[in-house]
Amino acid sequence: MVAHTQVSSLIAPYGGSLVDLMVPAEACDEVKARASQLPSIQLSERSVCDLELLATGAFSPLDRFMGQGDYERVLHEMRLRHGQLFSLPVTLPVDANPALHLDRDIALRDAKNDLLAVMTIEEIYPWARDEAARHVFGTLDVRHPLVAEMHRWGPLHIAGRLQVLQLPKHYDFQDLRLTPAQTRARLEALGYTNIVAFQTRNPLHRVHEELTKRAVQEVNGVLLLHPVVGLTKPGDVDHYTRVRAYKALTAGYYDPNRILLSLLPLAMRMAGPREALWHALIRRNYGANHFIVGRDHAGPGNDATGQPFYGPYDAQDMLHRYSGELGVTMVPFRELVYLPDEERYEEVSRISSTTRTASISGTQVREQYLNQGRTLPSWFTRPEVAEILAETYPPRYRQGVCIWFTGLSGAGKSTTAEVLTVLLLEHGRQVTLLDGDVVRTHLSQGLGFSKADRDTNIRRIGFVAAEIVQHGGVAICAAVSPYRATRNDVRHLVGADHFVEVFVDTPLEVCEARDTKGMYAKARRGEIKDFTGIDDPYEPPENPELTLDTVTHTPEDNARRILQHLLQCGFVRAQTMVVNNGTHAATVESASGHTG
Ligand code: ADP
Ligand code: ADP
Repeated sequence: MVAHTQVSSLIAPYGGSLVDLMVPAEACDEVKARASQLPSIQLSERSVCDLELLATGAFSPLDRFMGQGDYERVLHEMRLRHGQLFSLPVTLPVDANPALHLDRDIALRDAKNDLLAVMTIEEIYPWARDEAARHVFGTLDVRHPLVAEMHRWGPLHIAGRLQVLQLPKHYDFQDLRLTPAQTRARLEALGYTNIVAFQTRNPLHRVHEELTKRAVQEVNGVLLLHPVVGLTKPGDVDHYTRVRAYKALTAGYYDPNRILLSLLPLAMRMAGPREALWHALIRRNYGANHFIVGRDHAGPGNDATGQPFYGPYDAQDMLHRYSGELGVTMVPFRELVYLPDEERYEEVSRISSTTRTASISGTQVREQYLNQGRTLPSWFTRPEVAEILAETYPPRYRQGVCIWFTGLSGAGKSTTAEVLTVLLLEHGRQVTLLDGDVVRTHLSQGLGFSKADRDTNIRRIGFVAAEIVQHGGVAICAAVSPYRATRNDVRHLVGADHFVEVFVDTPLEVCEARDTKGMYAKARRGEIKDFTGIDDPYEPPENPELTLDTVTHTPEDNARRILQHLLQCGFVRAQTMVVNNGTHAATVESASGHTG
């Protein structure tokens, strides 16, 4: 089970050697054949990540999901039952299941039913959620993402010997996905003993670059740039974007002999200090004997009272306390700021109160730069990184938006939508018009006007609109959409920030008098049933973004009002007019104050 590593210049794995749970190639066919006869369970995304790190020895000396002895001691003392440090539980929670028997094998599969491993069940034991939450996270507050997630975990843990047949398949960035053994081999080849690891779940900016370079100098070694690509905090920048940025940075700005970029398929717990200790232990297994810890390491944000769950330096204190025993030296990340007058970075604690400094917060990056299409300055982030972020987070005027017209038949939805379509095209946006009547001839062909069919029609339009919006287009939808609950569902499907509900508030008498298609007359004569406003209800929106009056305003007036609203929200860019002499471009058509 345990592979012996050769004599190395790097620090040994924690516990002496790397755990290796992979079934040897020559035995694979036999184990697979047996597994196909076994009952199986499907692992969560989190458990798949855990299994991968167990299999490759990243959690050495842990060689299985924890049994009760390990689990209890980890909760109370941050140690495995034989005494080695281990600060977070790694368990396999399951629902009660008649297929689970002690001393029987069970197949472990991923969400796509791919066979990953066989477990011999040696223990089945209940666990208590509140006890775990209190000890591991120090809170029962469900604002903590893991405490909230634990409410969905099964009530039993299973544990036992693991035979791993294959690692979870990854199709992205394959050359950067290195196991602990592969990472060690690469580091070894660089020829230094001291390896300083940097954990991250965020894009790296100039201060991070500066800080990691200082750390490399300080330890006279190599940087293991080790971003997490498993599960991080909900809302983080996706790993595809981050890894493209790490690659650009590594390739352009570091000495290639002093850095190794490798991706860690870890499922983070956001457990602050306990997580920092766990991160350091994991990095030791990858060959690092130094570990950078900053402010609020692995912090989950604020609790229900608005307070941070952990103190800003709790993680540093924790690591400081155990670093001797763990064999990993903590490199504290001292907060750096940029000094524009001197064009350099300096530790906050080392500058006088009169020195001019510059910094940009995460919120400012999004709101004042990316959303507005402004380029991040090069003192803040490298241009390559700025470009990658700008691709993922285009400015508002290139983000998708759905304009959802609702109102009675004949209210003027289609007529207004057609004018708006032209105005938006004039302003450089890509538009798809999903008109109820037109949609009913293809996407929703065959659907009638029962409540169920109407809902299906609206949900189909909503689904298409959500796809268009996600890919940066403008979806204009014009359907009666009489039911409030269904419209609200669509709002959430599209994303409330990208949804503009326009209530075309034309009185029934006016619609009926227009009766462009003769429908109202037919409905009054009883020739068609369930006609909205006649014998089927229309539920007006409670808080539409806009309400249109088509009695006193023309379709063009109303369309321009919507355009103005979109300008104000930033979904349309104020137009730049080329002045006739051709030399200069000058401004602007709106009073919104928005600059492009
Ligand atoms: P809907 O799509 O809401 O069923 P339509 O746009 O197809 O409605 O039909 C509205 C009818 O009312 C059109 O014939 C249009 O010319 C007429 N109409 C008259 N005044 C207006 C107005 N101010 N806004 C929109 N349509 C109007
Ligand atoms: P929804 O599916 O939300 O009711 P649509 O805009 O897709 O709205 O379809 C409504 C259109 O279909 C109306 O403009 C009208 O011309 C036509 N129609 C036919 N029968 C009915 C009916 N029973 N109720 C409402 N509209 C009907």
